[in-house]
Amino acid sequence: MKKLILWDIDGTLIVSHGAGVRAMEKALIKRFGVTCDLGRIDWAGRTDSWITGEIFRHVGLPDTPQNTHDYLETYLELLPAELRDGRQGQVLPGVLQLLEQLHHRQDLAQGLLTGNLRRGAELKLTHYRVWHYFEFGAFADDSPRRNDLGPHALRRAKERHAVEFDPANTFIIGDTPHDIECGKVIGARTIGVATGRYSVAELTAHAPTAVFADFADTAAFLRVIDA
Ligand SMILES: [Mg+2]
Repeated sequence: MKKLILWDIDGTLIVSHGAGVRAMEKALIKRFGVTCDLGRIDWAGRTDSWITGEIFRHVGLPDTPQNTHDYLETYLELLPAELRDGRQGQVLPGVLQLLEQLHHRQDLAQGLLTGNLRRGAELKLTHYRVWHYFEFGAFADDSPRRNDLGPHALRRAKERHAVEFDPANTFIIGDTPHDIECGKVIGARTIGVATGRYSVAELTAHAPTAVFADFADTAAFLRVIDA
């Protein structure tokens, strides 16, 4: 039975040091002429579509499908320039080595389970040169609720690999309690990593299968996958 590895992006694979947040803030100004300090919104681990609803509520914009579409299109237009702006964004420790090792294993498949829009995920991961590791994923386009994304990821994994993946052999990896929760709702195993805004202790409180400070010890990560 093949195992399935599903990665979160921000705070897990990469940190973009606010590129996404800056693009969201600038898109609000460009599209609606409105400013909003996104620091006021608890966006970590949320989907871009959910965050959009929160921003609209904060600034008093009508939360309509047209406004959401226009806003997110503008965000995607502005994101590449913010990524190029750089400011020490990086692929997080151990991640490149893990992606490369897992990529060559026939007993595993790896995809994305992320609150990014699909196009936003592609822009970010292409910028950091790791997009080619991911053949499928579940994204904010699928649902604004992160807890809905697990079944979408399992379905796409099945379509891509022509085998059924058992949630019990699925690992959902992320840097927030929302990642752990969305894994648990489908009966998956979960791995927390404290390279985002939550500490090891905070993630441990949500009882994932395993927690790491970071993925620098790739052998320790692989022991969890292979247990
Ligand atoms: Mg994250």
